[in-house]
This record gives sequence, C-alpha cells and structure tokens, in this order.
Amino acid sequence: MSVWTVAAVGMGANQGDREANLNRAAAALRAFPECRHFRFSPLYETQAVDCSEPHPFLNAAVTFETRLPAVDLLGNLHRVEDDFGRRRPYVNAPRPLDLDLLLYGETVIREPHLTVPHPRMQQRLFVLTPLAACLGEDYRHPALNRPLGLLEAACKQEENRPAVRFLRPPDWAAAPSR
Ligand code: ADP
Ligand code: MG
Repeated sequence: MSVWTVAAVGMGANQGDREANLNRAAAALRAFPECRHFRFSPLYETQAVDCSEPHPFLNAAVTFETRLPAVDLLGNLHRVEDDFGRRRPYVNAPRPLDLDLLLYGETVIREPHLTVPHPRMQQRLFVLTPLAACLGEDYRHPALNRPLGLLEAACKQEENRPAVRFLRPPDWAAAPSR
C-alpha cells in the first residue's frame, strides 16, 4: 500500500459562471478516489494576463492527501476540465476551468507532459497567494527551496503583476451537508 502524499492543485476560471464552475470542480475533486483531507483556500479575483479576452479570473488553491500517483492525479484533473467542455485551441486561451498540479509532496518531476512543482507557479501571484493560504507562508517550495511568503513578496515587486483581490473565505467550497 503506497503512502499518503500532500498534493496541491491551483484552480482558475474566467468563462461562464466562474464561481459555479469552481464550486462544481471542488465537488469533483472531493470525489476523487484515494484522496482525503481537503483544505480549500479563500476565493480570489485576478485580472487576466496574456489572455486574449480581458475577463478577470477567479482563483483558488486546494491541498489534500492522496495515494494516487502524480500522473493519475493529472489525468483526473484533465477529465474534470474536459467535463467543463474545455478546449485548448491555443496557449492561455480563456477557460471555464483550469486545474494545475502545483505540488506533489516534495517530489520533483520533469516529464514531457508533467512538470512538478508547476514550472510557472513562482511567477504567479494568483497561485502563490491562495497556496500560501493553504500551506502557510513558511512552506518551502521543494525545488527552489524558498518559502512561499518570500516568493510572493518577490512577485509583488515585479512590475505589471495584477493584484489578487480577496473575495470570500474558504466556505465557497464547503462540502454539502447531508
Ligand atoms: P496553464 O495552466 O499553465 O496556463 P494549460 O493548462 O493550457 O496551461 O496547459 C496544460 C498542459 O501542461 C497540459 O498539456 C499538461 O499535460 C501540461 N502540464 C505539465 N505539467 C503540468 C502540471 N503540473 N499541471 C498541469 N498541467 C501540466
Ligand atoms: Mg492548466
């Protein structure tokens, strides 16, 4: 029996009913096999960068324990994206849902279709801010060996980084009560 690993996923949406999309995605993640102890970040809003449509994104992050191999986890994330009718016509196309595997424990993976930690996460405030809300500012990026709080501060000093605006606490992703 394999061990439990803490994985982190970044979530974003800038098409359709963005909050409903993230809410449905949260429910789909909770239903993944071999995954437990989900912790969702607050919900944030960010201006789109490098996107052909100027629609702002809603962003969040989630951490959870998993016994799925990283490649299976990414496959499951892609299936959820596909359920939302996501097409990938070109890089940075607007999307009803984007799910990125940010971290898979301390593991560093550099395969053609899977890079973990996510290769652009340190440049993205809309990833670092929600992730730090889940893991804490002191959590060290496993490949860069720098705390998330420091990466976030460095990012904020860069020009043209769109602000990440707090929208609501993590209750947006609360599991439905039965
Ligand atoms: P981005 O989310 O960076 O804007 P896309 O979602 O359009 O870009 O790109 C997804 C592509 O990147 C997929 O083909 C996927 O196989 C690949 N990929 C590599 N590593 C990761 C990862 N850690 N998380 C998500 N997708 C990844
Ligand atoms: Mg993606």
